Amino acid sequence: MNDYEKLANLLFPDTSETPEDYEKIYPTRAISEGARVSRFAPSPTGFLHLGGLFAAMISKLTTRTTDDGVFFLRIEDTDKKREVEDGVTAIIKGLSDFGIDADEGVNGLNSESGAYGPYRQSKRKKIYHAIAKSLVLKGLAYPCFCTEEELDDIRAEQEKEGADLKGYYGKWAKCRELTFEQQQKNIEAGMPYTLRLRSPGNPENRIKFDDLIKGKIEMPENIQDVVLLKTDGIPTYHFAHAVDDHFMRTTHVVRGDEWISSVPLHIQLFKCCDFRVPKYAHISPIMKEDNGGKRKLSKRKDPEASVSFYSESGYPKESVIEYLLTIANSNFEDWRRANKTAPQSEFPFNLKKMSASGALFDLNKLNDVSKNVISLMTADEVYDKTLAWAGENDEELCALLRADGERAKTILSIDRGTAKPRKDIAKWDEVKNYISYFYDELYTPDYTLPENISSADAAAVLRAYLEVFDINDDKDTWFGRIKELCEPLGFTPNVKEYKKSPDAFKGHVGDVSTVIRIAVTSRRNTPDLYSIMAILGEDKVRARLNDMLAQLA
Ligand code: GLU
Repeated sequence: MNDYEKLANLLFPDTSETPEDYEKIYPTRAISEGARVSRFAPSPTGFLHLGGLFAAMISKLTTRTTDDGVFFLRIEDTDKKREVEDGVTAIIKGLSDFGIDADEGVNGLNSESGAYGPYRQSKRKKIYHAIAKSLVLKGLAYPCFCTEEELDDIRAEQEKEGADLKGYYGKWAKCRELTFEQQQKNIEAGMPYTLRLRSPGNPENRIKFDDLIKGKIEMPENIQDVVLLKTDGIPTYHFAHAVDDHFMRTTHVVRGDEWISSVPLHIQLFKCCDFRVPKYAHISPIMKEDNGGKRKLSKRKDPEASVSFYSESGYPKESVIEYLLTIANSNFEDWRRANKTAPQSEFPFNLKKMSASGALFDLNKLNDVSKNVISLMTADEVYDKTLAWAGENDEELCALLRADGERAKTILSIDRGTAKPRKDIAKWDEVKNYISYFYDELYTPDYTLPENISSADAAAVLRAYLEVFDINDDKDTWFGRIKELCEPLGFTPNVKEYKKSPDAFKGHVGDVSTVIRIAVTSRRNTPDLYSIMAILGEDKVRARLNDMLAQLA
């Protein structure tokens, strides 16, 4: 038995599995050649960041560019300090609220599906240890007994010497050259140790790789003897990434670009383990404008950093995804203009069209996108989705919508389904205000007139209109009557005529309608007034006209 074998048995006496065993347990996936396998691999910190949702969406979309791609969810729960109870549930709910459900992997607090699990890192210790043991056998890993203080001392020395590269490598890697006898003595004495990579890197070498988003990248080869297993035997992110993405047969690693500087190490790890290196796609973070500068959207400072912000304020999931697609691929908006009602899944997403620098988050843009998305929904959809949102967030609205669903749907159907639907609603928490004048419980009259209409003229309009108003009129007759009111009151039914000689009239038919609109709805701008009156009914319309008239008199 050589020293590596002796060391491997000393460090991993209970590990009998070999990498070959796991190659058999997790064979290459039976999917068509070129099919993409990608994943979302969050830590369960109890919070799904918008950037996380974005990364998950990109990762899933990548797999959808091939027929039988697979998108899975892995939970990276090796850092128990950062973990919160329910963290996993928050992630699963966060993803599923926006329709980014995984094909396999973790799907509940204690459940998962798929043949490449366990999908929680905390349950994969045996696998990590088998691979770690194989590295020790190859002389590519060794135990390091340095204490925190010793590591601090090394760093201080490096500072003093002005070493370009800080860390555990070369002459600084004190435990690299320990003999087996020294290692054995330390272990038998119960000294805590980490397992480090014996990096085969050479400082003279550079490594090139082609990031699918950032393009060609060249960096120095890794020469650091990084920690693979911590003193408690738990893997570091780097080692777990290589082992998991290999045995889960990930073809495309899509992740935040904070990891890009680690790629040389990761490529080295894959090679040391005899694993095939996956393709990498590093996503830039979503940025926010702040005091003239740009910074990352922050969990601490920005409520909109959490995806729960969007579900709670009632953005439909389609809107949030539509918005994220506009950030993801710059050609999305052109595609959308040409394919107004096509499902999002038909967009030909392309990783190569991702912006290499961070996109700026813009709430106004999200609102515009969302108004457009909602304007294309049917009244039934708007009703169902608002009700579902109100059920969790607004009891009063929920009760009103439920009390007479048909009436609510009629209200929501005004101007919907037309060639140019109105874009009034960006999120479900705006529906209450949008429909408020149909419900006495929500209605507060406000008869403020535009500056160009005097109270006396408004009163005259209302008085005259009350004489001719007939709920049974068809729309043309209804509007004909409003036009007929104009001339006797000093207005003109003809807008063009008014524009030609504005001094000759008090206003035009639009102003007359505005007075009636304000009386009926307390607003200057509403969907089709004829439909509104039809829904309110004769008595209510008359009462409101009279009510405003009384206020003006
Ligand atoms: N758990 C890592 C993170 O949250 C995952 C990175 C990756 O996708 O590999 O940053």
